[in-house]
Amino acid sequence: MADLRDLYQELILEHSKTPRNYRELKEADRKAEGYNPLCGDRFTVYIRMQGDLIQDIAFQGSGCAISKASASMMTQSMKGKTREQAKELFQHFHRTVTGEKNGDSADLGKLTVFAGVAEFPTRVKCATLAWHTLQAALEGKQDSVSTE
Ligand code: ZN
Repeated sequence: MADLRDLYQELILEHSKTPRNYRELKEADRKAEGYNPLCGDRFTVYIRMQGDLIQDIAFQGSGCAISKASASMMTQSMKGKTREQAKELFQHFHRTVTGEKNGDSADLGKLTVFAGVAEFPTRVKCATLAWHTLQAALEGKQDSVSTE
């Protein structure tokens, strides 16, 4: 069992304190809400599409350091991605935080800091909440997403 402190790397702490793209996106053409009842994390993810591209993305809400940092870094990674690229990145990220994939994480970039989450199963839902919520927004689902 890894030390919980190892999980809270500097980058995660920094993003949780100063989340990027943390605002309501007034020009959003899609949004979805996500809720993780295990931890109490709750976020709204806003996106503005330009054809098949995620032209802009933002989020708001509250949650633990892991969920907030993950949402913040997700918005940075997703801006400018196509729907298909966004889906691939989500799958790649999901495999990394669930420990299904080790090693080849080059295309995850900074997001590899979340690989440590795999050691803490209850934190996986925190790390993936915003990502599931983004998928719901991309699919145009209006219902709120719950990790349960
Ligand atoms: Zn959480």
